[in-house]
Amino acid sequence: MSQSGEKGKFPDAAGYVGFANLPNQVHRKSVKKGFEFTLMVVGESGLGKSTLINSLFLTDLYPERYIPGAAEKIERTVQIEASTVEIEERGVKLRLTVVDTPGYGDAINSQDCFKTIIQYIDNQFERYLHDESGLNRRHIVDNRVHCCFYFISPFGHGLKPLDVEFMKAIHSKVNIVPVIAKADTLTLRERDRLKRRVREICDLSRTIMKGGSSLCRTIWPSCNVSSRLAGKAGTHMQDLQEVTQDLHYENFRSERLKRAGRAADEDVLDKDQILMEKEAELRRMQQMIAQMQAQMKIKPGDD
Ligand code: GDP
Repeated sequence: MSQSGEKGKFPDAAGYVGFANLPNQVHRKSVKKGFEFTLMVVGESGLGKSTLINSLFLTDLYPERYIPGAAEKIERTVQIEASTVEIEERGVKLRLTVVDTPGYGDAINSQDCFKTIIQYIDNQFERYLHDESGLNRRHIVDNRVHCCFYFISPFGHGLKPLDVEFMKAIHSKVNIVPVIAKADTLTLRERDRLKRRVREICDLSRTIMKGGSSLCRTIWPSCNVSSRLAGKAGTHMQDLQEVTQDLHYENFRSERLKRAGRAADEDVLDKDQILMEKEAELRRMQQMIAQMQAQMKIKPGDD
């Protein structure tokens, strides 16, 4: 191979490092590994969540789902139902998990109905943290919730207190995409009015959602429960994953480490306390012995 040949191939060979090719390498690696994405759907019964999930999976996932009556709903608690499917599109693999939350908002006292959901989100972070600190870090399965579609009823006049409470409670843990359900049942005027109302409240809740994902504003508010919605999530999938990793998971991890640090400090304090108590006990015993010895010395008749 002649030098002139080399030069001809890489005219700028002296300064050539090769990092311009990095995006391709990263892309190839990701494609080879495949993608993992978890979507959670939350909202009251009857807003069309199962219909959306079924259309995502192109199958009826719940052919025999039991629909509780009104009396049963009063006492109902939230369930978590996760379904996973592996999809391949033009050679790119995707492991999609959809987490449904039947029972949300059904009970009369639904104020704490989102605790189960928060627990689930936290458990997935905890699992990831555990796997990340283990030996087999190359093959971690990522079950963290990357996006939550929150269904808003088209029949109210905006967001209910429960809607706002829920979003306040989870905005720092997961990317929320509010969805106005069954928008096709509204006239264009009604749709626009509701969209504006929800947007006004979202402006307010955006302050509440400080530190949350700006993606809510890019995809927000989607006005139809259709596969178009899934398409939008698909387009933003990588951004949603990055926000989950860099913001929500990092928040969880640093909180968790702080708690572990505090627990270790408390443990040290507890040990110090035990040591001090033991020393005090020892001093008391030494004083008692000294007193006894002194009494033995001054017994009557001794002198
Ligand atoms: P879920 O309880 O939230 O899971 O609601 P379902 O998916 O079971 O839907 C409840 C009812 O609403 C069913 O009769 C669906 O056919 C209907 N439905 C679902 N999505 C839509 C929609 O976008 N528009 C309208 N008009 N009806 C819908």
